[in-house]
Amino acid sequence: MQFNFSGLRALVTGAGKGIGRDTVKALHASGARVVAVSRTHADLVSLSGECPGVEPVCVDLGDWEATGQALGSVGPVDLLVNNAAVALRQPFLEVTKDFFDRSINVNLRSVMQVSQIVARGMIDRGVPGSIVNISSMLALIPFPNLTSYCCSKGAMTMLTKAMALELGPHKIRVNTVNPTLVMTDMGKGVSADPEFVRKLKERHPLRKFAEVEDVVNSILFLLSDRSASTSGSGIFVDAGYLVT
Ligand code: NDP
Repeated sequence: MQFNFSGLRALVTGAGKGIGRDTVKALHASGARVVAVSRTHADLVSLSGECPGVEPVCVDLGDWEATGQALGSVGPVDLLVNNAAVALRQPFLEVTKDFFDRSINVNLRSVMQVSQIVARGMIDRGVPGSIVNISSMLALIPFPNLTSYCCSKGAMTMLTKAMALELGPHKIRVNTVNPTLVMTDMGKGVSADPEFVRKLKERHPLRKFAEVEDVVNSILFLLSDRSASTSGSGIFVDAGYLVT
């Protein structure tokens, strides 16, 4: 499916690596102007080299004050992809305050903060918008050693619905994309046990995990007018996992 985002400005968080990086590239190739927000400066430098014109913003989204400062004057944004997250592994009985707080702050609180900044701008300008929150199939099912992460994604489901409810009258749509495992840096780090990963893949009806491209395609669909009547909802890119 071809998308044309000419004339629109998009903001993507977690743009330095993985799904966020490929989302920036796809939006850039489809004509959007893109603000790329991430934490590692070198990633943003190389991304700007690959996609001339991309506007880099280097900030730790887990830091409320720094984020407010970095994005306070970001300017007009029509499309938002809240993608940045951390998957910090700890068995439930060993979950620390630090890891739990960090997971919630980056994966959930920053989604609310960045969305507030962007949605206020859309409402002030009187323009429609689309926001896509990158969740996970782990919003619905637990996974070993990822309690904090699963909680952040579970809560993102309700945050997405709450945003859809209140922003809908302003013609701002809000949805999630919920992938299964994707072999990015994050995906490779979720289990150190290759046998566990092999068995997990076999439990997917399609006998595979998701590719980055599959996730990006669903993001672009939800950002675009092709999904004009979809809000408060989600696309599961889970190779059928949740049917079992
Ligand atoms: P990666 O770890 O590959 O990339 C995450 C990106 O987000 C990095 O560029 C990272 O920057 C950035 N980021 C992380 N924390 C912050 C922060 N505090 N401030 C600013 N930027 C930050 O992850 P994926 O591409 O795999 O994941 C993208 C999204 O997809 C996430 O929301 C994830 O939960 C979701 N997802 C991923 C799955 C997977 O298996 N990979 C499965 C299901 C959902 P840096 O490296 O500099 O910290």
